[in-house]
Amino acid sequence: MTDQTIITARGVTRRFGGLVALDSVDLDVPHGIVQAIIGPNGSGKTTLLNALSGASHADAGSIRIDGKEIFRLRPHRIARLGLARTFQNIRVFSNLTVLENVKVAAACNSPMSMFSIMLSTTTQRQRETEIESAARQALEIVGLAGRADDRPTQLPYAQQRLLEIARALASKPSVLLLDEPAAGMNMTESMTLLDTIAKLKGKGITVLLVEHNVRLVMGISDRVAVLDFGKKIAEGAPSDVQRNPLVIEAYLGR
Ligand code: ADP
Repeated sequence: MTDQTIITARGVTRRFGGLVALDSVDLDVPHGIVQAIIGPNGSGKTTLLNALSGASHADAGSIRIDGKEIFRLRPHRIARLGLARTFQNIRVFSNLTVLENVKVAAACNSPMSMFSIMLSTTTQRQRETEIESAARQALEIVGLAGRADDRPTQLPYAQQRLLEIARALASKPSVLLLDEPAAGMNMTESMTLLDTIAKLKGKGITVLLVEHNVRLVMGISDRVAVLDFGKKIAEGAPSDVQRNPLVIEAYLGR
């Protein structure tokens, strides 16, 4: 690990019964880059994201975020260390407005405990202003500021996925994990997503994405790691990974 590394994973292993979904995976993600995890279906990509975010713990290994060990920490503790994520399925509240959805996410991931908020009404008012401002900034980044008062169901599907990213951004993370962000998007919508990811990188946020659309990933990522049957079989710049015989074999061999 170097000072420049924001995620350092060593020997991350996850078994489901007899199946080894992650087999001693190592990963070093430098600060501020776009890192992709690709691999055929069932290769362990989502299992790795779940291990990193605490959604489903690994059985063995070590995972450090900015040098702090997070192995087996609960998701909200990991979120407070600056890691946020989206899920493959959209998880917005349809009875709240777009802005309220993002505010709920900002409030839930607040580093301030309810106890400390209750101690002072001034603090609570300040906190509400902070939450509103963080939520509006997040909507601005994903291009949804003009839809703040709509219901999520009034948004096209691709914008609902961007709303998910805004919800993750509301906690002002230093690392953002995106699980299949382009799923269900057409080419134009995918391009908007790529612009958004580039904006996040421009703001210094490290983005780690799992994506099925390999061509899309190659265009936006600084580094790509490839999983196959739970093992990391390749890692490097997109152009190198694309030419790697092991990677070609993994995709063609299935
Ligand atoms: P990917 O995201 O690359 O498609 P996953 O991480 O979802 O792959 O799955 C890796 C392997 O682990 C697959 O064989 C999958 O069937 C298995 N798996 C994932 N989650 C579970 C689970 N909760 N119970 C049993 N097997 C699982």
